Amino acid sequence: RFIALEGGEGAGKSTQARLLADALRERGLEVVTTREPGGTPGAEAIRALLLNGVEGDQGESWNPRAEALLFAAARSDHVHRLIRPALARGAWVICDRYLDSSRAYQGGGSGLSDADIGLLHQIGSEGLLPDLALLVEVSPEVAVQRLSLRDTDGSDRIGGRNSAYHARVASAFSAFATSEPERFARIDGNGDPASTHALVLAALEALLTG
Ligand code: C5P
Repeated sequence: RFIALEGGEGAGKSTQARLLADALRERGLEVVTTREPGGTPGAEAIRALLLNGVEGDQGESWNPRAEALLFAAARSDHVHRLIRPALARGAWVICDRYLDSSRAYQGGGSGLSDADIGLLHQIGSEGLLPDLALLVEVSPEVAVQRLSLRDTDGSDRIGGRNSAYHARVASAFSAFATSEPERFARIDGNGDPASTHALVLAALEALLTG
C-alpha cells in the first residue's frame, strides 16, 4: 500500500507520518517512510538544489517550469529506486508529500496548469499514484505558530513565497480533495498529535482491513 501525506507547511505531516509508521509496524507490517523532494541520494541532491539554490546565482529562485521539472525528476528517481521496489515486495510506503504537493505548489502556487503537472508525472513516474492521499489541514494561524516553534533558519523551506502564495496552495489542496474524494481523506490537523493520529487511523480503516 502507498500512502501520501499532503498539506501546507506546519500542518504536522512529518509527525503524522512517523506516528502512522509506528502504528503499522506494531501490526507487524513492513513500512518504508520517505519524503519528497528526496528519499534517494539523487533526489536528495535535487532537494538541495531546490531549497538552497545554486552557488553564484545571487539568490535568484528557479523559474516555475524549471522548478516543476526538478520536482518531477526527483520524483522519478524516488519512484524508480525506492517506492516501486518497496511496493513490489509488499511493504507499505508512507511518503511525506507526493504528486498532490506538485499540483498544489507548482500548480496552484506557481501557476503551472494541472495538465502540465500531470504530463510531467506521467513521463517521470509513469503516473504512479498513492492508494490514498491524507490531506492534513490546519488554520493559517496554527501553521504559522508551528513554523515559529521549529528550530531552523528557514533553510528547510523554499523561500520567496508570500502568504498569498500559501493561500493559493491551501485552496488548491482543498479543491483537489473536494473534486477527487475517492483519492483523498481530509484530516483536521488543528488538534494535538495524538488526536490527529486517531483521525489518520480511522481514515485508513478500509485499507487496513481490506
Ligand atoms: O515538506 P517540506 O517542508 O520538507 O518541503 C520542503 C520545501 O519544499 C517546502 O518549502 C515546500 O513548500 C517545498 N515544496 C514545494 N513543492 C513540492 C514539495 C515541496 O514547493 N511539490
